[in-house]
Amino acid sequence: MPAPDAEINILFSSAEIASRIGELAEEIGAESGPDLLIVAILKGSFVFAADLVRALHQTGLKPEIDFITLSSYGAGTESSGRVAVLRDIAAEPAGRRLLLIDDILESGRTLAFAREELTRRGAEVRTCVLLDKRGKRKAEIEADYVGFVCPDRFVVGYGLDYAHYFRELPYIGTVEHR
Ligand code: 5GP
Ligand code: MG
Repeated sequence: MPAPDAEINILFSSAEIASRIGELAEEIGAESGPDLLIVAILKGSFVFAADLVRALHQTGLKPEIDFITLSSYGAGTESSGRVAVLRDIAAEPAGRRLLLIDDILESGRTLAFAREELTRRGAEVRTCVLLDKRGKRKAEIEADYVGFVCPDRFVVGYGLDYAHYFRELPYIGTVEHR
């Protein structure tokens, strides 16, 4: 299936994102010890995580980096409410300070699920999201580090997809259907 026919309006430009990530990295760098395990939630956070870890390098951090693939959305724009582990981390989280990275916090089910699971395995978990859709929460969770508060719109780009497309956009935009 080809990319959906949609017009994308820029919400956060790549320059705005880069500048905010620099600030986040300073905050995280100042509060993290030397032995940090970073777990990025795939697929949506891959671009954010890639830029954030390089900004963290500038603060002197030398984190171990791993990935977990979770799914709750399927191919639509509505969360199904169920979260599944499609692929797990390889690292051992027990006894580690762990930073969980996700693209966007909406109902909170994805991040709450991941945080609970990794806490259960013995990690001390902090959370970082690029975008926070406040007022959409179904699970009791707030992220420790937030890039931007996001309006209640379906957004794409910078790793976020619509029906598996638009992840490559260097900015965050809203989808206007034609
Ligand atoms: P939650 O579990 O908090 O409801 O949703 C979090 C997940 O849903 C995110 O990791 C992201 O994959 C997806 N999601 C939520 N809102 C949006 C959105 O506006 N655009 C896209 N592309 N994905 C979203
Ligand atoms: Mg996601």
